[in-house]
Amino acid sequence: MGHLDTVFPLNNSFQEFYREGDMMYGPGVADMQGGLVVLLYTLKALAQAGELDNKTLTILLNSDEEIGSLSSRKYLEEQALIHDYGLVYESSGTNNLVRQRKGLGQARIVVNGLASHAGGAHQQGRSGIKELAYKIVEVEKMTDYESGVTVNVGVISGGEARNTIAPCAEAMVDLRYPQPQQGEDAVAQFEKIFGSVMSYPIDSSEISAESWINLHRPPKVPTAESEHLLEKTLAIGRLLGQELGVVNSGGGTDGSLTQAMGLPTLDSLGVAGTGAHSNQEKAGVSSLVERAKLSAVLIRRLAAE
Ligand SMILES: [Zn+2]
Repeated sequence: MGHLDTVFPLNNSFQEFYREGDMMYGPGVADMQGGLVVLLYTLKALAQAGELDNKTLTILLNSDEEIGSLSSRKYLEEQALIHDYGLVYESSGTNNLVRQRKGLGQARIVVNGLASHAGGAHQQGRSGIKELAYKIVEVEKMTDYESGVTVNVGVISGGEARNTIAPCAEAMVDLRYPQPQQGEDAVAQFEKIFGSVMSYPIDSSEISAESWINLHRPPKVPTAESEHLLEKTLAIGRLLGQELGVVNSGGGTDGSLTQAMGLPTLDSLGVAGTGAHSNQEKAGVSSLVERAKLSAVLIRRLAAE
């Protein structure tokens, strides 16, 4: 599995690929165009060695991963049911494999208020921005580093003019949670916060909110089968002289969806790189080769099991 999309808007200045020595820079070099190159050369090597004969491999590349695989999820889940192993070519920092991942959720909230003149009719207005601000404070309070639940209001917008009481305001919220139940609890809490008026002691017809909440990735919790896959890969790494670390991650991948369907999935076979989702994104050119070797041997061995 891999994804073709990146996160950079067209007006972002970080649009070009360039290389300096063993380092390559550009949008997606780590997350995960580099991983797609690893995948391509893994397949080329296996095909050349005749290792793909009489084997069934499905390559699934989606284009909506960064927004949560909302439309490709069903295809990923379908494929999970008819395969033995899932391999995802995401980057995982420098020379790491990922054991465990948090679940991800997202929410969008739109507050509708009532516009009026900020000088002449202040009392008649109902500010969507003011109401949203109250909600944001409550939403941000849900972050609890001890339990691992984090919430981030990442984007806000609203209002029409400085001297108009803002008739509307909007926010996009990101949620991360280690255990499935924490995701359910967070959804209930979002609903409570979004559903109540907090900034005005008035009836709700004058100020209201519409929201959309989605738990788009379940937590990736290790299983005996996924540990087997991880150990096998670490052993191949040792054989190839690659020292691989094992980390847990707060970042989501499509591997969480397939593992939740019962498919043992390793989701960090991509290139060694850092700075994903920033204009410092970079990846090691030589790790393309190292990772292609690693996953070619892995696939060969898995197919022989
Ligand atoms: Zn990615």
